[in-house]
Amino acid sequence: MAPMITTHTSASPAALPRIAVLATGGTIAGSAADAAQTSGYQAGVVGVDRLLAAVPALSQVARIEAEQVASIDSKDLDVALWTTLGGRIAELAAREDIDGIVVTHGTDTLEETAYALHLTVKTDKPVVLTAAMRPSSALSADGPLNLLGAVTVAGSRAARGQGVLVAFNNRIHCARDVAKTSTYAVDAFHSPEIGALGWVQDGRVEFQRAALRPHTSATPFVVGASWPAVEVVASYAGASRTAVDALVAAGVRGIVVAGTGNGSIHATIQAALGEARAGGVAVVRASRVGSGHVMRNGAAPDDALGFVSAGTLNPYKARVLLMLALAAGESAPAALQQIFDTY
Ligand code: ASP
Repeated sequence: MAPMITTHTSASPAALPRIAVLATGGTIAGSAADAAQTSGYQAGVVGVDRLLAAVPALSQVARIEAEQVASIDSKDLDVALWTTLGGRIAELAAREDIDGIVVTHGTDTLEETAYALHLTVKTDKPVVLTAAMRPSSALSADGPLNLLGAVTVAGSRAARGQGVLVAFNNRIHCARDVAKTSTYAVDAFHSPEIGALGWVQDGRVEFQRAALRPHTSATPFVVGASWPAVEVVASYAGASRTAVDALVAAGVRGIVVAGTGNGSIHATIQAALGEARAGGVAVVRASRVGSGHVMRNGAAPDDALGFVSAGTLNPYKARVLLMLALAAGESAPAALQQIFDTY
């Protein structure tokens, strides 16, 4: 497949794409008392109008309408916001005059929101998330350029049908693959092992490849009013079964284990998870390593215990897919593995 490229020339304002910007807070909307401060600031306190006003060049690439959907630090994100965002995106995407949608978000849980939307929004129109590592008040704040990049991608023909995208630091990532990989670096988002889909710079949007797995309209998943309880536990030296037993007693529907290496699990936790699965709790093995894939039966007897391998999904994305699969009525190990092998 040839690369898909869109270059924005200075079109007349009426010919520019119309982009809806949904703001949810995050560091991109953060503010500190001192311009030199890049930690310990308050996230999610600057309104979307001020974010847009800081980027006059936006008027050269799009006609924008903006909404403040939330004003939170995304570390505190509640999955109910995915229901709200999904509903609002559906309404906007159904409008003929809207060409694309941008969501501004905190970096901490951006990859989870992006994947939840990638699996559930039913539109070919570009939906692009962006964020920032430095608050809007900082010297060399990265939010304005990231916002310009995201709006440029959302308005490009090349981004149509590519699923939910993350535009960050000039790169364009697939929502499924991208992860936050640094606590403070401005270049904080990567798609480990797989790489970005393309890049955006100076009005030019270029895709070098497309995501192969089904997404958006090609999945059976929808954002529902409620999300099944699924939690993540980690495996490590000296781990006990206390957390798994407590979660099962609390009635969770699924547990994702952030295993060591190839999703391997401490024998104590594995025994507890085996009992959980026998009692009807879905168990998915992911890895805490941060890149690579988890092989089925490679580090745990999945067939014998009814566990599912997360493949290349990190534990937090595996949790998103497991919640959606359970909400769709799937809970048998074979059906869940099929879902994890597909999406
Ligand atoms: N804690 C912030 C958030 O996720 C961090 C950021 O946006 O960079 O909202």
